[in-house]
Amino acid sequence: MRRNCWRPCLSLASLRGIHGLTRRAYSLGCETGELVGPMTAGHVLPCRAAVAWEAGKPLVIQQVEVAPPQAMEVRMKVKYTSLCHTDLYFWEAKGQTPLFPRIFGHEAAGVVESVGEGVSDVAVGDHVLPVFTGECGECRHCQSEESNMCDLLRINTERGVMLSDGKSRFSINGTPINHFLGTSTFSEYTVVHAGCLAKINPLAPLDKVCIVSCGVSTGLGATLNVAKPKQGSSVAIFGLGAVGLAAAEGARIAGASRIIGVDLNPNRFEEAKKFGVTEFVNPKDYDRPVQQVIAEMTDGGVDRSVECTGNINAMVSAFECVHDGWGVAVLVGVPNKDAVFMTKPINILNERTLKGTFFGNYKPRSDIPSVVDMYLNKKLELDKFITHRVPFSEINKAFDLMVKGEGLRCIINMED
Ligand code: NAD
Ligand code: ZN
Ligand code: ZN
Repeated sequence: MRRNCWRPCLSLASLRGIHGLTRRAYSLGCETGELVGPMTAGHVLPCRAAVAWEAGKPLVIQQVEVAPPQAMEVRMKVKYTSLCHTDLYFWEAKGQTPLFPRIFGHEAAGVVESVGEGVSDVAVGDHVLPVFTGECGECRHCQSEESNMCDLLRINTERGVMLSDGKSRFSINGTPINHFLGTSTFSEYTVVHAGCLAKINPLAPLDKVCIVSCGVSTGLGATLNVAKPKQGSSVAIFGLGAVGLAAAEGARIAGASRIIGVDLNPNRFEEAKKFGVTEFVNPKDYDRPVQQVIAEMTDGGVDRSVECTGNINAMVSAFECVHDGWGVAVLVGVPNKDAVFMTKPINILNERTLKGTFFGNYKPRSDIPSVVDMYLNKKLELDKFITHRVPFSEINKAFDLMVKGEGLRCIINMED
């Protein structure tokens, strides 16, 4: 009886401009907030989303309509989301192509509400993490053990529509709103390609493992899967935000004996101690390039470095601070679209390796369930990444914190 109220609420809502009614539908329709399954499948769902209308302007929480998933798509109820610096870059749109109005958000956890035709890997009620880069399972990249750069579903920051029909699933009074990274998790419901969803252990607390959906996996994988430091080696981490500290966590797990944290923000250093960072360098404290400082500290350079800033100068320093002969540098930060990487070719000839990675080389569907299991098995700590929590209605606070460089991850509770 209670759940039956959802359909009338949907049609009334469309007649009456709907925000209040939607909230009422939640409270009547399902006390747990789990509006999933046949009651809603196939319907356009009105819900709250945080819409970015202009670069750098506060997001507006308002009613949007979310169309049902098409073939190979899934509509999920987002339970928790968090803010990653990539959202901030594209919202600020200083060094990126502006695309507005848009619903940002890509680090999240939720529950499958309904599935489109042909989806067999996930079912209604499954717990899932959306991932900004996907895994079709068929292409040469998906078949390769080395790559996670799926031909079909690899990260695309410029696209604001779904792949299948080139249309958005979000609208406000008929005006389409752009997607972001195929995830758009700053909405109570979102539509995602099935290949961009990792099905996870339902015992995992969604308010924690949501950070595995981007930042933690990206940093952890950049070290464990790409830099691959040996036991007892030295690793420099540039940028001690959540991604960089997850990279430090990877270095700790790999058995690195020296983990050198580099950041311009001295407030980061205290927090970084909890992640096993053993030494700190603030480039501002020196009148010579930071790569030179690190080479002096390490008898010629570190064995591995992982760059997690997005700053082009830090990328060059991260490369030039690795030891010749065997050093490997891994770029993770998302640069301005016009940035150009410049170094003397001799630095490469001297047998240094430069690599880059999206999402830590993890394949979302195949690999991410086991990263969640690492947390459940106490091999990976997540709590220390979570420094703030806000209700969805206060999502702009999460942006303020990141702009000020305060805290690591801020979890946004979609049901508050
Ligand atoms: P964050 O803002 O929390 O942390 C970035 C840190 O870098 C800050 O502490 C900042 O002070 C520091 N920093 C900035 N410029 C620096 C410089 N020149 N030298 C030293 N430190 C500097 O961001 P985050 O969410 O941890 O993300 C880090 C980067 O990783 C961003 O560029 C983000 O877009 C990118 N990212 C990439 C992927 C990927 O798959 N490749 C995935 C997620 C995030
Ligand atoms: Zn991210
Ligand atoms: Zn593929």
